[in-house]
Amino acid sequence: MTDSEYSQAIEDFAAAAAALDLADGLAEVREEFVGADTSLVYFDGNSLGRPLRASVERLTSFAEHEWGGRLIRGWDETWMQLPFEIGDTIGRAAIGASAGQTVVGDSTTVLLYKLLRAAFDAQHASDSARVEIVVDRDSFPTDRYLVEGIARERGGRVRWIDVELDGGVTADALSAAVGAETAVVLLSHVAYRSGYLADARALTTIAHDAGALVLWDLCHSAGSVPVHADEWGFDLAVGCTYKYLNGGPGSPAFAYVASRLQDTLTQPIQGWMGTADVFAMGPEYRPAEGMRRFLSGTPPITGMLAMQDTLALIERVGIAAVREKSVQLTEFALRVSDALLSGLGVTVASPREADHRGGHITLSHSTMREVTAALWQNDIIPDYRDPHGLRIGLSPLSTSFEEVLEGLVAVRLAIKAATPSG
Ligand SMILES: *Cc1c(COP(=O)(O)O)cnc(C)c1O
Repeated sequence: MTDSEYSQAIEDFAAAAAALDLADGLAEVREEFVGADTSLVYFDGNSLGRPLRASVERLTSFAEHEWGGRLIRGWDETWMQLPFEIGDTIGRAAIGASAGQTVVGDSTTVLLYKLLRAAFDAQHASDSARVEIVVDRDSFPTDRYLVEGIARERGGRVRWIDVELDGGVTADALSAAVGAETAVVLLSHVAYRSGYLADARALTTIAHDAGALVLWDLCHSAGSVPVHADEWGFDLAVGCTYKYLNGGPGSPAFAYVASRLQDTLTQPIQGWMGTADVFAMGPEYRPAEGMRRFLSGTPPITGMLAMQDTLALIERVGIAAVREKSVQLTEFALRVSDALLSGLGVTVASPREADHRGGHITLSHSTMREVTAALWQNDIIPDYRDPHGLRIGLSPLSTSFEEVLEGLVAVRLAIKAATPSG
């Protein structure tokens, strides 16, 4: 690309970004986030979302009035119900679950463990031939480690599905992996590395036809991609709240268990908060009916505060509008990358078709590790994922098209600086 071709491309893309921002029905929402008025370019809202200004107020007011003012009375007045109330809101706003099936609890890792083990045990108890847990080789480390641990702990086996680096689990791959020995399948709705968006309805049906239960990991879809848990026949799901739901560092995850399964599952961490009558302090553990049985200890109330503002925002604008902008953002990023980065040897390690892509894309180049470090120095914040992947997370509520262009131009300069030949 000659210098003048480059200047022309930048000019064209700047005009395109301005037009997209102008036409963006969610553009004003971006102003509601802390830091939206700074020059920082944030490509990591899929790892830790930005806080809303409303959350800052909510957190301070909580410390002052609720915790500071109501003290222990707060539990009876509001906090005991909060995991269920916010769970229902997540169900309504983000994952297509009717009330009474979603609860906010522990970390994603702990909730995945609890549900995966409960599902494995129930399946194995009703059919002792069902000893396999199916998972893909490129699923998030915590998911793989848990599967291996549970298989070891319960005398089961892991059945691995191989996936392409720029893809995820397809219908054919799942069909080949499930059968009469499958107890449970653990799948990511959006793959954390490639951004591959799985056909959750079709894959759920395939698993069910084989007699298996499915646990969906919604970490990278909740709040960016519409999910229809009830309509798609989900059994179980777990998702993060500090990613697209902007709950803040370490905010607790949510769990979904379909009504029809709730009373047939027993989770392994039998704590007092999951019993039928919490304050009876009885001699033995009796699991509560409904979603309470999936809780273990005292709910992390402080961690549940901020997500409520993003959930309210998503309910206000609708998850369909969020997804529409998300698709436009990743399309624009791909266009810019094809024009400005592919000539430098950058390849796209994410699906090209919007229907198969979630809210982030991964760009691959041998220098990406040092490029990421250089970008962070300049307040351009993507993240790095082996091998050679620069992950561009485009949180639809808090990212502008201009920001996308600015960040990718900086990527180009950083790659050129990192490659001696230019
Ligand atoms: C982010 C993420 C997790 C994180 O689990 P934590 O317990 O919150 O650390 C788990 N699974 C997937 C797919 C993720 O993307």
